[in-house]
Formats: sequence, C-alpha cells, structure tokens
Amino acid sequence: MCAMISVQHTIDDFLHLFFPHVCAGCGTDMIGEKALLCIACMEALPFTNFHLHAQNPAEKMFRGRVPVERVSSFLYFAKDSLVQRLLHGLKYKGNTALGYLLGNMMGAALQSSSLWSGIDVLVPLPLHPAKEKKRGYNQALVLCEGMAAAMNISICAQAVLKRSHTESQTKKHRLERWQNMEGRFAVTNPALLENKRVLLIDDVMTTGATIEACGREILQVPGTALNIATLAYTVK
Ligand SMILES: [Zn+2]
Repeated sequence: MCAMISVQHTIDDFLHLFFPHVCAGCGTDMIGEKALLCIACMEALPFTNFHLHAQNPAEKMFRGRVPVERVSSFLYFAKDSLVQRLLHGLKYKGNTALGYLLGNMMGAALQSSSLWSGIDVLVPLPLHPAKEKKRGYNQALVLCEGMAAAMNISICAQAVLKRSHTESQTKKHRLERWQNMEGRFAVTNPALLENKRVLLIDDVMTTGATIEACGREILQVPGTALNIATLAYTVK
C-alpha cells in the first residue's frame, strides 16, 4: 500500500515537473494536487447571484426581444480580470476541466433556486463544426457537462446546428448584428426538443445577439420554452 502511494507521488512529482500544476486564475503553483483554482481565486469569483432574482439585468436584456422564461449569468466579466483569464483558459487553452468545474458550480447555483425548477434539457450553443473541430471541443458543451452533473438533467447537443462562420461583428450596430445572425442556426432534429423546457447555455453574454438568434430557432419547435444561462456577463 505504502509502496503504491510512493509510486503515485513519484508519478505526480514527475507530471508536476513537466506539466506544472498552476491556478488557472492567477498562475500560482501554491495549489492542491487536484485543484484547478487557488483558494484566493475561488474567493475572488465575482458572483452575480442573478439566478436568485427574476428581472435581473441579464433577463431584462432579452425582454421584448425574444420570449424567455428565465435568464441568468453566473459571473461578472470585465477586461483584464480573473473571469477573463478563466474564459481564456476555457476557450483557447484547452482547459476543459476548468469549464466542467465552473459549469458544475453554475448548475449547483441554478439547482438551489426555486426560480429555475422544471428545466427538461440543456442545449449548448453550437459552434460552427469547422471551428469546433479546430478547437477540439465546444466550450458551451463542456459547461453543460458540469451543469448536467449538478442538476441531474440531460444534454441535447444534436438538435441545433450552426450553419456558417459569421463575419467579425465588433463594429456593427446591434440591429445589423441581429440581421447578420438571422438564419445562422438551424434546428435539425426538432423531435429532440419538442414540448421541452430548454436551458440554452453559452460562455459569455455581451449583446445577447447570438444567443437570441439561436433561441428564436429553438422556439420554432412546438411546445418549447426558452431559458438562458451563461457563465459570464459583460457589464456595460
Ligand atoms: Zn489563483
């Protein structure tokens, strides 16, 4: 038994040497073997607590645009912040374990709020297949996997498809952006969503235009209701 532990320690030390185990938030290596974030970063996470309040800022953003039930975002996003570093790790550095952890925390939060009971299925906002192939994963699906474990509900990643790359949208007017998004998503398997209360998941909410476009397509399926949650919320 002791010999086995000692071998495991040696392997862990070896892995630590070649794959330094550091906090995804601040880069410190003063972190537990299995932890992804240090205690200081965990304590510094800027929770919105939107899931506890109807008419929260994220929900208000969609009112009058698309018929939604509930909307929430888990963390406040700001430039050069802890949350930006975490999102960067999730989207561009392959840190899917971090995405799972944050998804799991977000799912547990939603699960604890009576406003969020009765969700039937989690739908990750689809990436264009070429983009997903290049990245190796869809970060929204990774979040869903963590959420599904906390909420004990299933994921449906096969019902909605993103059709093509969208051109850079940063300088466009909101209306143009929406028009640009129109038709970019398609429900390819409506039977999977029929009569379901859907929770659509994405990583970050800024204008909400992409999420809105996808949500509109989902609502074309008979009997669906739309709920939206993102990991991060951009404060305007
Ligand atoms: Zn840290």
